[in-house]
Formats: sequence, structure tokens, C-alpha cells
Amino acid sequence: MVDSTSSIYILKVESMHSNNILTQSIEYLKGVGPKRAALLNKELGVFTCRDLLFQYPFRYEDRTKFHKIKDLTEQSDMVQLRGVVRRLDLVGEGRKRRLVARLRDDTGAIELVWFQGATWMEKKLLIGSEYIAYGKINSFNGKLSIPHPEMESITEAGLKKESSFAPVYASTEKLNTRGIDRKVRRSLMQAIFAKLQPYDIQENLPDYMIEKLRLPPRMAAIRQIHFPKNQKEVETARKRLKFEELFFLQLRLLQLKQHRKDTIKGIPFPKIGDYFNTFYKEKLPFELTNAQKRVLKEIRKDLGSGAQLNRLLQGDVGSGKTIVGLMCMLIALDNGCQACLMAPTEILAQQHFQGISEYVEGMDIRVDFLSGSIKGKKRKALLADLKEGKIHILIGTHALIEDWVEFKNLGISITDEQHRFGVKQRAKLWHKNKPYPPHILVMTATPIPRTLAMTLYGDLDVSVIDELPPGRKEIETKHWTEHHRLRVIGFMKEEIAKGRQIYVVYPLIEESEKLDLQNLMDGYDQMQREFPPPTHQISIVHGRMKPADKDFEMQRFVEGTTQIMVATTVIEVGVNVPNASVMIIENTERFGLSQLHQLRGRVGRGAEQSYCILMSSYKLSAESRERIQTMVRTNNGFEIAEADLRLRGPGNMAGTQQSGILNFRLADLAKDQRILQTAREIAARILDQDAQLTKPIHARLKQYMDTHGKRLKAWSRIS
Ligand code: ADP
Ligand code: MG
Repeated sequence: MVDSTSSIYILKVESMHSNNILTQSIEYLKGVGPKRAALLNKELGVFTCRDLLFQYPFRYEDRTKFHKIKDLTEQSDMVQLRGVVRRLDLVGEGRKRRLVARLRDDTGAIELVWFQGATWMEKKLLIGSEYIAYGKINSFNGKLSIPHPEMESITEAGLKKESSFAPVYASTEKLNTRGIDRKVRRSLMQAIFAKLQPYDIQENLPDYMIEKLRLPPRMAAIRQIHFPKNQKEVETARKRLKFEELFFLQLRLLQLKQHRKDTIKGIPFPKIGDYFNTFYKEKLPFELTNAQKRVLKEIRKDLGSGAQLNRLLQGDVGSGKTIVGLMCMLIALDNGCQACLMAPTEILAQQHFQGISEYVEGMDIRVDFLSGSIKGKKRKALLADLKEGKIHILIGTHALIEDWVEFKNLGISITDEQHRFGVKQRAKLWHKNKPYPPHILVMTATPIPRTLAMTLYGDLDVSVIDELPPGRKEIETKHWTEHHRLRVIGFMKEEIAKGRQIYVVYPLIEESEKLDLQNLMDGYDQMQREFPPPTHQISIVHGRMKPADKDFEMQRFVEGTTQIMVATTVIEVGVNVPNASVMIIENTERFGLSQLHQLRGRVGRGAEQSYCILMSSYKLSAESRERIQTMVRTNNGFEIAEADLRLRGPGNMAGTQQSGILNFRLADLAKDQRILQTAREIAARILDQDAQLTKPIHARLKQYMDTHGKRLKAWSRIS
């Protein structure tokens, strides 16, 4: 009773203040008016005071400290100096005209430079007077200077008592030139806070959590992120707000996961039968790794539970995901169901078809293949057999999800390289069986960083194969530049003489397709000059070729007729030629890390020592260099995925674009792993004890989820 009355009270208080400052249009904020409001709408998408409040500063101007001139280095970023102007020189002519001032403190001197407003500045500054200079250090040939510093004479500074640790907001040129500069932005924020009442921003975390995690209350954190006294306050405020972002997303994801488990039944697979056992005892050509065994156990548990399996299988290139997938399909067969395996390209699907057909040879299992290239009578017959249940395992491309593909009883659907399929495409698989949806297993091409998996696929179960089959030799990776071209050719000759085969891969991205194609053809010509027929044969494969021609060229390489395969990234996915032991990547700087790792994974599949040679120009950006160094340093896909996330940011990783979910205000999946981990653990614990959040202690969580939870979309449910 007490509870219900108090919640009624809360409702009343809220409605009384429903037109609080936050819902107000910014037009009526002190210092705005219709013109500025229109500008803020257009430039920042800000309409209400709430919108403005939630645009947090992206950095702060620390004017609390003074730097000594002798301590400045190239790495010093924004610095504040206090010194006397000793010289003022207007130098240069025309567009190069500039004012150079020499500022000296008791430790040294530095040049301050103005290109714009030089004459005006020259009049304003007084030689012999003391100033505070604030600006960004610039370094040219080792010489430091500060272009366009903000200058304040000591007397001016003395008069002002403004906060010396000030927020800087993301802005646009228009805003700045039309008078909404840093200082105005700050004053707008001050105007909001002047009117803000404690109940305008409600706490959304239970008190016990705030205490236990030592977080500031929500209102305090929001105030503090706009107006901190120092860096430490910034960190505290950020931590609280990041936690909140990540926590509510995890709460939502785990709720969805639970909800799915509670409401969606799966086809029960109680039995492990002849198919599985025969394969395991008689066909399996090697001992499973411990990781493979563990993952199989995890999957079997789901399959037997009566719930629907909805699992992401992660594993490095070559870790043996396919065989695990196949064994899951055999469990479906043992329970009287069909299975399908979908791959993103024709080539990869074909390889799976061949590989799996070989694995189950002599087992009375009918494996068939479907893609866009299967047409007419052949397709008709196949579809009829599928519907009658005569086909046990269907392997193919996205053709599998078309509406006209009907199964008799699809028990499990496996998707290889899942990130290449759209969310909607994958969703269709759910409808391929009635009344229960098939079990769903999706496999990655390369590992995904943990934090990304936790958010992007946070409502799926995840299994990880973190071990490679024994006996693999590490691929030796080298970084060479154009200067080493002769050495590369020489090395290729040696390897070919030993009977090996070689890939040479060129980038091909759409914007510069013509140029890239030219590059590829030049490379092909060079190879033909260096490796002329009849002793040598070269395959070439690129995206502009007809599928039949591509297959023909590919086939020649697979059979060993050709020694060199010159190609674009079309060979990235899945191709398996164990005799190929050298991967040469041209213009390495233009490839992303995960793509490089994928490409490298094409070699190292046989018994021989394999090599990966990363060719690049001599000059490289810092980021390209780090990418290449990462490749040289490690073969571990998990490590590479982490580096990729760090370098590119979560928004640019494969599979994240379509989700839109990673638009955090503050949280950064590359840096906030620990906060995320904590958030997920706490969310899980809470739902364990109180799945519906009905306990009074969780009232704030429930209220928040009821109002905002829907916005946290369920994007991967359909995987
Ligand atoms: P990926 O995880 O990249 O899809 P695959 O499933 O294609 O890897 O497996 C790569 C290769 O390793 C295949 O040739 C497969 O037969 C082999 N393989 C898989 N598991 C084992 C194992 N436990 N022991 C030895 N070889 C294995
Ligand atoms: Mg694979």
C-alpha cells in the first residue's frame, strides 16, 4: 500500500512540473531568441533545452595551470603560459604576412604567431607587458610555436573570476561566425542550470547501486560534466554517465534474451543418434580440439532444452568452425529434421558443399546445393525434394532465404560469415519452419572484440573457439615496400620452385574502381613478364569478371595448373588451397585489419611454412603503420580485432553500421571495457533476482525502462 501511494505521489509531482525547463524550446532561453534558435536547430539539431543539455562537452580548457616554457614539447597540446611580450615583428608579404611575438617567462621564450588580424594584434599587444597566452602547440622542424593564441593581459585576467576549467562543445563554423561561440555556449548552459530544479532530472539508478559503485547522483553528474572544477570531476561525471548508458542497454539486451527464452520454444532435439555417432566414431578425420568439444557441449545443451538455440559462434580463421556446424546439423538429422548452411558467396558456399559432402560420404545423407545459378528444371526438382524432406542438408547462398525455398522440417539453420548478411535477410530464416522457428547458429569470419560482441550481440548466447587445431605453423609476416620489389620476385621464384602456389592480392574499392583495376592489370602484366609461360601459368580473378570465368580461373589455381593467383579481395572469403603458401598483399595500407587477417588466413592451411608479405608505399600514416605492425606482430585474430576496434572506433567495424545502436553519447567500446563488464554483470544479477523489475528497490529501473527501454532496439534478435 505504501508503495502504491508513493508512486502516485511521484506521478503527481512529475505532472505538476511537466513543462519544466527541459521540455521548453531553446528559443525562450535567455540569450537565444528566434534567430539563434533557428541556427541551433539547423546546425546542432537542438530544439529543446533538453537537447542542449545532453550535448556534452567533448573537451575542456584547463586554465587552472600555467606551463613553463622550458617544459614544452611537441607533445604538449593545449598550454597556458604566463610571460612578458619581448618583441613584436610584422614579417612577410601578402598572404604570408604575419605577426610574430616573442613571449618570455623566467624559464625561456617562445614565438606566438598570427596570420589573421596581424596588424590589429600588433596594435593591441604591448611590448614589456605581461600576458596570459593560451593555445595549441605547433611544431615545425622541431621548432615550437603557438599559432593564434588567446591573449589576456594580466590586469584583464585579474578582473575576471570566470571558471578556469571550462567546457568546449562541438560546434560548427556557422555557429562560431554568427556569434554562438564557446563563451555563448557556456552561458546558454548556465542559463539552463539556473532554472533547473532537482526534480527535472530524475535519478534512474537505485540508491544502493550508486553507493556501491561510488557514482555521483545523476543530476550532480550532469552538472559536473558541463561545469567541472578539474579533470578529476570530469572523469567521475563521465564514469557515471557512461555506466548509465551501458547499463541500461545491457539490461534491455538481457531482458530481451530472457524474454525470448521464456516465450519462444525451440524444436526439442533430445536425441544424439546414429548420424552423429557414426560420424564421430567413423568419419571424423581428426581429434576435436578441446575448444571445439566445449562449444559442442554448449550447443547440445541448448538443443536439448526445449528452448530455441540462438547462438553466435566465434573463432579465429582456421579454428574449425565448419566441423562444429556440421556436427550440429547431424544432431538435427538424428531428430528427424533437415538442416541448412548459408554462406555469403557462391565460391564459399560451393566449398562448403564439397567439403561437407566429402565428410559425410557413405552415410546415407543427401547434401544438396542451391544458389542463384541453379535454375530451371534443376531448381524445380531440388525444391520439390526439399519440401518432401528428401534432402537432408541444403547448402547455399542467400538464395536459401527466398520465399520459394520451402523445407519439410528445418531444424537448424547455420549462417557462415554472418556479418555479410543484412539483419532482414537473416530474419527470414526464422520463418522457415512452423510452428517452431529453426535453431539458429551464426558463425563469424574473424573474431569480434568482446565489448562489441556484448553490445552488438548482447542478447545472443556466445560460444568461442579459442584454440587452433594442433600442428599449425605460424605464418611468417613481413612488411616490405616498393624498394624490395626485386626481393619479392626472387622470393616468389624460390617458393614456386619448391612447388608452392602464391596469391597476389590488390585492393578494389568502389570509389576508385577504374584506377584499382588498372593497378591490378599492371600487376598482372608484371607477373607475366617475370613468370612467363609455358613454365609458369597465372590465374586472374576480379569482381568485374563473369562468374563462369571467375570459377574457371579459380579452378585452375585450386587444381594447381596455375602457380600464381592475381586477384582482388574476391578471394578473401573461405577459399581453401592448402598448397598455397605465400600471400602477397599490395597497397596494404588500404586494407582494414580484419580484412588483412582474413586474407592472411588463406595461407597456412597445409603442412608447409607459409608467408604473408605486406607491400606498402614507404610513406605511411601513423594509423596504417600501426595496422601493419599489428599484423607483423601477431597471428591471433582476437588480438587483431581489439587493435582494429581501438584504431577505427566501433562505428566503423563490420556489422555495426546497420545497427545504429552504437551511438553512445559518451561510452566508448574500445576504452570502456571495464565499465561495460561491470554494467553487464550487475544487469544480469538484477534480472536473476527480479526479472520483471517489480521489487520496490528497482522501481527507478522499471520506470526508466518503461519510458526509454523501447528505444534500445532489439537488433540482433533476428540473427
Ligand atoms: P574456420 O573456423 O576458419 O571456418 P574451418 O572450419 O574451415 O575453419 O577449418 C579449417 C581447417 O582445419 C579445415 O581444413 C578443417 O578440416 C581443419 N580442422 C578443423 N578442426 C580440426 C581439428 N580439430 N584438428 C585438425 N584439423 C582440424
Ligand atoms: Mg569458415
